[in-house]
Amino acid sequence: MTKRDVFRFLNEPREMPDKVPLPLRTGGDWNELYGRFEDREASRQADRCLDCGIPYCEAKCPVHNYIPNWLKLVQEGRVLEAAALVHETNPLPEMCGRVCPQDRLCEGACTLDDGFGAVTIGAVEKYIVDTAFARGWRPDLSKVVPTGHRVAVVGAGPAGLACADRLVRAGIAAVVFDRYEQIGGLLQFGIPSFKLDKSVIATRRAVLEGMGVEFRLGVEIGRDVAADALLAEFDAVFAGTGAYRYTDGGLPGQDLPGVLPALPFLVHNGRIVTGGDTWGRPIAGWETTLAVPALAGRRVVVLGGGDTGMDCVRSAVRLGAASVTCAYRRDEANMPGSAREVANAREEGVRFLFNRQPLAIEAGAGGAVAGVRVVETRLGAPDANGRRAAVPVDGTESRLAADVVIIAFGFSPAVPDWLGAAGVATQGNGRIEVGGERRLPYQTAHPNIFAGGDAVRGADLVVTAVQEGRDAAASIARMLRRGAQRARSALDA
Ligand code: FAD
Ligand code: SF4
Repeated sequence: MTKRDVFRFLNEPREMPDKVPLPLRTGGDWNELYGRFEDREASRQADRCLDCGIPYCEAKCPVHNYIPNWLKLVQEGRVLEAAALVHETNPLPEMCGRVCPQDRLCEGACTLDDGFGAVTIGAVEKYIVDTAFARGWRPDLSKVVPTGHRVAVVGAGPAGLACADRLVRAGIAAVVFDRYEQIGGLLQFGIPSFKLDKSVIATRRAVLEGMGVEFRLGVEIGRDVAADALLAEFDAVFAGTGAYRYTDGGLPGQDLPGVLPALPFLVHNGRIVTGGDTWGRPIAGWETTLAVPALAGRRVVVLGGGDTGMDCVRSAVRLGAASVTCAYRRDEANMPGSAREVANAREEGVRFLFNRQPLAIEAGAGGAVAGVRVVETRLGAPDANGRRAAVPVDGTESRLAADVVIIAFGFSPAVPDWLGAAGVATQGNGRIEVGGERRLPYQTAHPNIFAGGDAVRGADLVVTAVQEGRDAAASIARMLRRGAQRARSALDA
């Protein structure tokens, strides 16, 4: 290897695909922010990988993608082989390439991140799958042997979709139920289109259907179909039902006109942007009754510093708000949202106020929101989750003027009645309890019901939901294999 080869990352700086120009974004453009690499750009960026021998990037990636291996394939122009390889570990790589907080995961662990600019792993992952799909590549299931088993997957979010993908690859028929008429869960209804264009989800749906996955949409388990009926029809059930219980900050004034909860606000915008679902039809079951005031020319304050908060501030920018402020009670280093998304929000004109804890939302003379009373904080001792608590500093109260306040304090799961009635146990915090000494990974207290994703972890990430759905499918396949072996032994005896 020549000296130039070793130091190629010095000649080839880290580059992301082009972004939508700023004036368009602040002028109300909802298109996906990042464009796509051309073949040559992808190859050059992939060639920056040092293949350093210790793939910290793989270790930090929750699905343990074979990153250096598929980067090499891209560098050599073998994109279809790269697509097959990336699907070995990741059932939804085009989604993860778009929405993973790479700065905290694979790219944050890249050796080159130490001063030279990490390899653009997420953007290359997105390039691989988009390019391969556009060229007609599809997962090869020609060697799959049907087992005759059938599994119901409840929830068409990333956890459910990943589970269904792995089940059909194991020869198990997968039927996916969702209460909404479109697949994707929060990918479809929560995450705005400037992060993930909804046509990407439609393409994945076609791919999954081509693999044999059946979708029964607009069906709510527990309301339209009882758990007993599901357990009678299928050999096992996977619950990827998500986390939708709001964290209630209990703020005085949170019910004032002009105060909006984050998720219905984002859903409302998503419906306007897509004109309904991807094909322009209204989405049954996902009506929001939220009266969202026009944000044009208004002062918007968003409370909360996670991914949801970042999506709210950037949506408010696109809706023409006069000013958008994000108030977060810890410092920037402790923000849960992706650093890349914070940088994009800053670029779009969002003002960040760190170490500000909201105390109350205050009304003006007309009874609508006029401001948020906040107090400054300092970081104290770690709380029960190991995060340093935000401690209010006496005498530092002030008021942020606001016409609209959006509350984005996060979500936690609440186990649905139908799962509770079937004997599925939860932890005190509402998360479904899985695994343990006498169970398979992701198996609940009911032996035939498995669970994963936000319903088990609490509100987290797309990639961790994918990993849990994928690994739960492996457990289900193991259980069904054991059952089939036992049945054969009984026949032989
Ligand atoms: P979900 O995506 O919530 O899917 C659950 C599905 O189950 C839903 O479709 C629901 O309709 C269905 N369901 C529930 N109960 C039933 C029932 N009884 N019958 C039928 N169907 C049912 N993560 C990232 O990695 N990057 C990001 O940038 C990011 N941004 C986010 C922005 C927002 C606004 C939000 C809210 C979350 C964001 N996340 C992000 C988190 C990520 O979206 C979730 O962690 C992930 O979607 C969880 O996947 P899941 O499959 O467990 O649940
Ligand atoms: Fe990085 Fe996410 Fe892809 Fe893993 S799945 S390589 S963390 S972008």
